[in-house]
Amino acid sequence: MLNGKVAVVTGSTSGIGLGIATALAKAGSKVVINDHTHRDEAREIAKALASETGAEVTYVGADLMNGDDCAALIAGATDAYGQVDILVNNAGIQHVEKIEDFPVGKWDAILALNLSSAFHTTRAAIAGMKQRGFGRIVNIASAHGLTASPYKGAYVAAKHGLVGFSKVTALEAAEARVDVTCNAVCPGYVWTPLVEAQLEDQMRANNMTKDEVIDKVMLTRTPTREFATVEQIGATTVFLCGDGAAQITGTSISVDGGWTAL
Ligand code: NAD
Repeated sequence: MLNGKVAVVTGSTSGIGLGIATALAKAGSKVVINDHTHRDEAREIAKALASETGAEVTYVGADLMNGDDCAALIAGATDAYGQVDILVNNAGIQHVEKIEDFPVGKWDAILALNLSSAFHTTRAAIAGMKQRGFGRIVNIASAHGLTASPYKGAYVAAKHGLVGFSKVTALEAAEARVDVTCNAVCPGYVWTPLVEAQLEDQMRANNMTKDEVIDKVMLTRTPTREFATVEQIGATTVFLCGDGAAQITGTSISVDGGWTAL
């Protein structure tokens, strides 16, 4: 389906990003995976993904808190495979705390990674997409890009910003009259290391046990009472990257078990 297309997925050595990279590789893309660690283990993940899927997979380390590293990631992918056709802005972090106690450094870091990195990578990749007449940009936002929860000020602000930035990117690409689209995917709760790490913070902030947090905080707004899977987010992304989604642009697609229908 995506044969020969070159995809970059940010923050893709674990969780949703790895699920998306796997789905894109299975759909026939060459895939650049990324994180900020530059570890041998990350290169091993790329090798394992290549042997699992038969696709070409390369790891490019880049700390996406930093704008120059974002541009270097796109340059590294272009060096490896000649161009970038698909850009999935997925890297993200979370911190859960009341506004009055929220560490300023955490606010800055969340805005830098969850929002500004998408600007920097898009800035570096979109001109080539427009020139070649094809491109797909998928921004992994969140149900928190459309709704809010207490104690997640920076995350909710960044994800709302990412949904807005996706619309602007879509409009600018449409003006160029080329097959370049941009959409936001808005997952509800997906069981990944990021969510697991939130458990402790939520237990502290709400004074609850692990099971109470899962039942009363995490899945309380999920009518299906189920976590989404990384495979489902991967499948949604592959769909958005295909020809069938050429007229889907500037929108946000919820994969949230009905959360935003409430
Ligand atoms: P995760 O922690 O499992 O994975 C995050 C990835 O980003 C990792 O590969 C990590 O190494 C990488 N990363 C962290 N800091 C980085 C940096 N400075 N530069 C480059 N890479 C960096 O998280 P996840 O749960 O898979 O979340 C992925 C995305 O999905 C995030 O944007 C998150 O906000 C969003 N999301 C997650 C959920 C969920 O329930 N898990 C729900 C909605 C949205």
